[in-house]
Amino acid sequence: MKTTPGAWDAQTDPLVVIRWALEEYPDLLMPSGFNLNGVVLIDLAARAGYAGEVVFVDTGYHFPETLQTRERLEARYPGMRFVTLSAALDEEPWGEERYRSDPDGCCAARKVAPLRDYLALKQPRALLNARSRDQASTRAALGFLEPGERLRVNPLAYWGRERLEAYARAHDLPVNPLYWSGFLSIGCWPCTRAVRPGEDARAGRWDGKGKAECGLWVGEKAL
Ligand code: SF4
Repeated sequence: MKTTPGAWDAQTDPLVVIRWALEEYPDLLMPSGFNLNGVVLIDLAARAGYAGEVVFVDTGYHFPETLQTRERLEARYPGMRFVTLSAALDEEPWGEERYRSDPDGCCAARKVAPLRDYLALKQPRALLNARSRDQASTRAALGFLEPGERLRVNPLAYWGRERLEAYARAHDLPVNPLYWSGFLSIGCWPCTRAVRPGEDARAGRWDGKGKAECGLWVGEKAL
């Protein structure tokens, strides 16, 4: 059923949100890190008719399982174009292990800058994003639409972990195998650990580093 944002609520089917976004923003672009949310969103987007780009930023520190998940997704969804970006680090003066001393700077150089540069080139008016409210307290107020430099469309804002897992199982999606070992949110290996019972899904990211977000979606340099 076709509806507009004013009629949406927490029960609205993510497919309705994606279809609306495709109609309003045919230049829509989807960044993805291939976490559980991302894999579910790619599948839903395919069902909604998305045939655009899935953009992954290779920081140089991803788990092999994450890179394999990317390959499996690319093979499964030939109608989308999988793009991999890498940071230009030739002149990085901080050395290979900047994540130890300056994780904000490391994320800014290895994650945010490549995607920001790519978006400046492509100029999409909206981004399809896989975040959901229950991933972390910092995301508890997330809605379907976030205005900003570009509109961020968050079709999974109200889907919780159980529903995402059920969807992934029902459709036999190629979820990163680390997820089922407690890595509920998976980023770079130096900055990711498995989550303990009762913790936020993102509690294993940057543990002990005083940091909760990479900067892509929250903070001064958010996209
Ligand atoms: S998550 Fe860690 S290793 Fe990856 S870019 Fe950020 S600080 Fe660097």
